[in-house]
Amino acid sequence: MPEIISVAEARREETVGREVIVRGWVRTRRDSKAGLSFIEINDGSCFGNVQVIAESSLPNYESEIKRLSPGSCVSVAGLVKSSPGKGQATEIQAAEILVYGFADAEKYPLQKKGHSFEFLRTIAHLRPRTNTFGAVARVRNRACHSIHQFFQEQGFLYVHTPIITASDCEGAGAMFQVTALDQSGKEESEKGVKSVKSGGNDLSKDFFGRPAFLTVSGQLEAETFACALGKTYTFGPTFRAENSNTPRHLAEFWMVEPEAAFFDLWDDMELAEGLLKRLFGDVLQYCPEDIQFFNQRIDKTVVETLEHIVASEFLRVSYTDAIEILRKSGRRFEFPTRWGNDLQAEHERFLTETHFRQPVILYDYPREIKPFYMRLNDDGRTVRAMDVLVPKVGEIIGGSQREERLDLLERQMKEQGLDPQSYWWYLDLRRFGTVPHSGFGLGLERAIQFITGMANIRDVIPFPRTPGNAEF
Ligand code: ATP
Ligand code: MN
Repeated sequence: MPEIISVAEARREETVGREVIVRGWVRTRRDSKAGLSFIEINDGSCFGNVQVIAESSLPNYESEIKRLSPGSCVSVAGLVKSSPGKGQATEIQAAEILVYGFADAEKYPLQKKGHSFEFLRTIAHLRPRTNTFGAVARVRNRACHSIHQFFQEQGFLYVHTPIITASDCEGAGAMFQVTALDQSGKEESEKGVKSVKSGGNDLSKDFFGRPAFLTVSGQLEAETFACALGKTYTFGPTFRAENSNTPRHLAEFWMVEPEAAFFDLWDDMELAEGLLKRLFGDVLQYCPEDIQFFNQRIDKTVVETLEHIVASEFLRVSYTDAIEILRKSGRRFEFPTRWGNDLQAEHERFLTETHFRQPVILYDYPREIKPFYMRLNDDGRTVRAMDVLVPKVGEIIGGSQREERLDLLERQMKEQGLDPQSYWWYLDLRRFGTVPHSGFGLGLERAIQFITGMANIRDVIPFPRTPGNAEF
């Protein structure tokens, strides 16, 4: 029996001479006058296709093989030979082609190439079959693999923080409420669970007996583990109901959040820089075909930028210095550059694209514009926050050293209108064996956007959730 191998393996020179089976989806079929067909097959194992040569002597040549069109699914058994053609080392001389499923060329939405990304979003169930989305999926997979490797190699513990939470984490963004109350007003919900009319909004009768939400960040819960187990990270989906229709915001996105005891802000920066460099370096090393594709077809600077970043030191610039640079730049910005204002995307991009032309870590932000849990500096006006900014994407990481002093933390909560009592468990971490600690959040999709050069964040997640969009 021939061995079943991937297209990636079938494309390698070393495979020549082997009898194999390859299974996948037809990308193109071309018939030659000499009475044979060339069929390109892709199975997602790599960017490239393998070319299959089908002779007209095959028993199902007229009845099936000549009906194969893009999207059809086949299994091909045959001999791997070296290919005389350009751009491929091998081809498969088919001994047998089994058709699992045809794809009606009249109706198959991907029959033609060159659809816009906007159109492909309307067929999110089929877009993984395109070159671009296959490449994004492989790069995303590699990045996730490297994230785990990076932390595991340094002894960080992977913690699963909850997705449903009752704490309005840090006001990082509007939250989605979770309820089991029947919103239609019926007495019984469809699953048969006794539910209560939500008309009166009696949340004490709701599933958790209190308001509950989808998490916007796993940080506060991760801190509980860091304050017991040292170096930890959480990596999961987060949700923000902010109505921001931008190319960098999703309502559901994945966040990597390390949280480590005994880390100060400088340790935190070093960790962030190390993580990004590792991700970029690994993707260059392990996804070269995909990255070449992005470099040729999506953004001509991708490879150069990634290589440059892996080799360079990230700058560290205080917020105050950054404001000075912006003010002296002579640029007219839409939003004013005043000390105390949050930096907008235009400012971030000016700093990293125009002024420094490399990634920059800004730190020590005014405390008024940052969440309550960031550690107050001795100047009393700034906190130990840091944001990593990269060209094109802007903020890719946001982090801080956390306030470990109980009295200052409580004061900061009250100033921001939060009730310390509802954070009693978080404050306990400062009551019992408090420890200096730090962490950050890396938006996975922003990282993938940066790596691939894809302009819209909706095209680097399999099923984007944005205002008005959740069909697939
Ligand atoms: P921004 O100012 O860009 O909205 P933020 O300050 O709200 O970001 P944080 O709360 O610090 O971001 O979240 C940490 C990281 O999560 C960000 O650096 C970014 O990479 C990512 N991120 C934040 N909001 C979104 C979103 N809506 N969609 C995708 N990624 C996001
Ligand atoms: Mn935001």
